[in-house]
Amino acid sequence: MLEDLKQKVYDANMMLVKHNLVIFTWGNVSGKSDDGKYIAIKPSGVDYYKLRAEDIVILDTNGNIVEGNLNPSSDTPTHIELYKAFPSIKGVCHTHSNYATSFAQAGKAIEAFGTTHADYFYGDIPCTRTLTEEETISDYEKNTGKVIVETFNDIDYEQIPGVLVKQHGVFSWGNSPYKSVYNAVVMEELAKMNYQTLMLNDLNNLPQYTLDKHYLRKHGKNAYYGQKVSI
Ligand SMILES: [Zn+2]
Repeated sequence: MLEDLKQKVYDANMMLVKHNLVIFTWGNVSGKSDDGKYIAIKPSGVDYYKLRAEDIVILDTNGNIVEGNLNPSSDTPTHIELYKAFPSIKGVCHTHSNYATSFAQAGKAIEAFGTTHADYFYGDIPCTRTLTEEETISDYEKNTGKVIVETFNDIDYEQIPGVLVKQHGVFSWGNSPYKSVYNAVVMEELAKMNYQTLMLNDLNNLPQYTLDKHYLRKHGKNAYYGQKVSI
């Protein structure tokens, strides 16, 4: 079932390898079916070079296996919390990509320093709080999702489609599995640029009017970037 979704989720997982965001078995991508009833996700602990589209596991929205012989990613409960809280998303991606994870380990947001950032993220990319001991000992992956959702209480998840989980790594999302990985690739590049900027000068906050100009020309009802027709 859902062979098309499995293929999309497989392709998105392989995109992580192509863009050097993962090594070994690290990272995972999932996708939600168009009817919202199912989630397809990478199996747990399977090397990317061995992964096949038919290995992608199909779950219901509570995480029960509907189809597949392999166990789903151990991060599945985090993905499920994000799908529950962020209704418009159709893809979730998790990586420990180098620069972005360095910011997560330092507990620092990726601040909006330049227009490259403003083209994709309408403000700083936040870092969550540390999980408590209790939250870590039991239901760790589910609590990771809850802490992300808590971080977005006052932030629009469509305008900031990614987060740093403190001392851990990156979660990103989008309206497809592909878009969730796309946003993870952008986050890694922004983190790299931020790191380099901070090495040179730490007083580089982008004026609000530049953030507005760059984000709003690509997103929302008054966007004018790109083509009106598909080419
Ligand atoms: Zn992780």
